[in-house]
Amino acid sequence: RIAYVNGRYRELRNASVNVQDRGYQFADGVYEVCEVRGGRLVDYPRHMARLQRSLRELRISEPMPLPALAIVMHEVVWRNRVTYGLVYLQVTRGVARRDHAFPPHPVKPSVVVTARALNYEKNQQTAANGIKVVTVPENRWPRVDIKSVSLLPNVLAKQEAREKGAYEAWYVGSDGFVTEGASSNAWIVTTDGRVVTRSVDHGILAGITRAVLMEVMDALQIRLEERPFTPAEAYEAAEAFVTSASQIVMPVVAIDGRTVGNGQPGGIARRLREEFHRFSAFS
Ligand code: PLP
Repeated sequence: RIAYVNGRYRELRNASVNVQDRGYQFADGVYEVCEVRGGRLVDYPRHMARLQRSLRELRISEPMPLPALAIVMHEVVWRNRVTYGLVYLQVTRGVARRDHAFPPHPVKPSVVVTARALNYEKNQQTAANGIKVVTVPENRWPRVDIKSVSLLPNVLAKQEAREKGAYEAWYVGSDGFVTEGASSNAWIVTTDGRVVTRSVDHGILAGITRAVLMEVMDALQIRLEERPFTPAEAYEAAEAFVTSASQIVMPVVAIDGRTVGNGQPGGIARRLREEFHRFSAFS
């Protein structure tokens, strides 16, 4: 497998960054994950727009012109022969003597790109079974709209989910409402067929899958309500699901050990999963 690191394509096992990289020392960097289908990048322009926003919010300069970045990402996908899978891009503030404040002189941001194949059949099977979710207290910083590599709370939440036999963790804020998953956006479907998800603010990541899915729902005339919901409402919902670039629409069949609906993936989630890529842009 091949990775791109700061201008070079290297064997993944030998690919490394400087120990003084601010990504390594301070998690001072941002990332994007795009789905790869048929060897092409799904909704790439939207991911790049979000990357630019994350960089701007953290005052990290753009490491290279976006068309050049597109070439690198396609090249990594191609060199790894990924037809179905993911491409990962990370940009950090760069390498500098360890000091919390920004380096006094501009440094070049570091860029890493990797890609890996996913097992399509296995993912379809997971979606056919549905996943389990547990709720955990929201303990992240109040700017999770920035897709930063600072993911320690997400790591711990996912681990807690795994140890409880679940796949994803849903954060619940001090107001009692679900914010989002540790690596996904959270959705429910009410018993009268309305799809509910929280509106975007600094408290959740504006998922690209979320945004595209809203267009899908609009086209299919599925009713949407952008508002927060509580775990109690989710337990009683007809359906639940999560969205992310790596899972697209993944049905949720249990929350905190309570069965959602009839314990099978819901019809709306299944339909949205099937229709999703008709509305995606392929680059
Ligand atoms: N929320 C969090 C915390 C995430 O990490 C992710 C993606 O990994 C998402 C939401 C979904 O975003 P996207 O659909 O752009 O992958």
